[in-house]
Amino acid sequence: SKATLFDKGTKVNITFSDVAGLDEAKVEVMEIVDFLKNPKKYTSLGGKIPKGALLIGPPGTGKTLLAKAMAGEAQVPFFSMSGSDFVELFVGVGASRVRDLFKQAREKAPCIIFIDEIDAIGRARGRNAIMSNDERENTLNQLLVEMDGFGTDSGIIILAATNRPDVLDSALLRPGRFDRQITIDRPDVKGRETIFYVHLKPIKKSSRLDIRKLAEQTPGFAGADIANVCNEAALIAARKGKTEVEMEDFQDAIDRVIGGLEKKNKIISPDE
Ligand code: ATP
Repeated sequence: SKATLFDKGTKVNITFSDVAGLDEAKVEVMEIVDFLKNPKKYTSLGGKIPKGALLIGPPGTGKTLLAKAMAGEAQVPFFSMSGSDFVELFVGVGASRVRDLFKQAREKAPCIIFIDEIDAIGRARGRNAIMSNDERENTLNQLLVEMDGFGTDSGIIILAATNRPDVLDSALLRPGRFDRQITIDRPDVKGRETIFYVHLKPIKKSSRLDIRKLAEQTPGFAGADIANVCNEAALIAARKGKTEVEMEDFQDAIDRVIGGLEKKNKIISPDE
C-alpha cells in the first residue's frame, strides 16, 4: 500500500526451496548470500564485495520472491521499496525517503535492500514521462549518493528488479553500484512443472491430476500466473461443492487466466 513506502527490515521465512526453477539465477544469488554470511572470507585477499545486483526479467517471474529468499537464506533483515511508490510524491519527499531507508538499513546491517521497479526512478536522466523530471532525478541522485556512501564491507546488499534494463540510467550500472546482472526468464515447460508442484502443495487435489499436462497447457505463463491458476482452480472446485480439485477445474482456471492475460495485453500493447 502507499501508506508504508518500504518494509522496515522485516524478517522473512522464505528460502530457496520456495523458489521453483530459476536454477542459474539461484547459483548466482547463492554467491551473494555467502557474501552476507561470510564477508571476511571474501575481503581477506583485498577483494571488494559487490554492493548491488540487478534482477532482470518479465513481471511475475519470481524476482521479489528470489530477493526475499536471499534474505531468508542469509537470515538477514529485508528492506524493500518500489520505484513506483515514488511517483506522485511532493518535491523532496522521494530523496528523503531514500535517505531514511538507507539510514535504517545501516542500523540493521547485515541486511538486504530490495528496490522493485527501479526503472520508475532509475530511467536515464532527462527522458521520463511519469514523474516530474526534477523530483525523479532527485530521488535517483539520492540513491546513487547512498550507494556510494557505504563501504563494501558494510554488509548491505542492494537488489533491484526491472523488466526494462534498457531504459536505466547508465550511472546505476557502473562498477560499485549494480554491477551484477541476473537474468530471470519466463519458465520453460519443466520450470512450469516444478512451479506447479510448489503451488499445488496446499491444494486438496485429485490423485488423477496430470501435472505435466498442466505445464504443457500453460506456455508463456510466469510463476505468478501459475500461482493464480492453482488458486482459481481451488475456488472453482469449491464453488461447485467438490471435495477435491480436479483436472477440469484446472483447465477452467487456465482458460480464465489466459483471458485475463489477453485483456491485460490489449491494454498494454499500444505502448510496446
Ligand atoms: P513483478 O516484476 O511483477 O514484481 P516478480 O518477478 O517480482 O514480479 P514475484 O512477485 O516474485 O514476481 O512473484 C509473484 C508470485 O508468483 C510469488 O509470490 C509466487 O507465489 C509466484 N512465483 C513466481 N515465480 C515463482 C517461482 N519461480 N517459484 C515459485 N513461485 C513463483
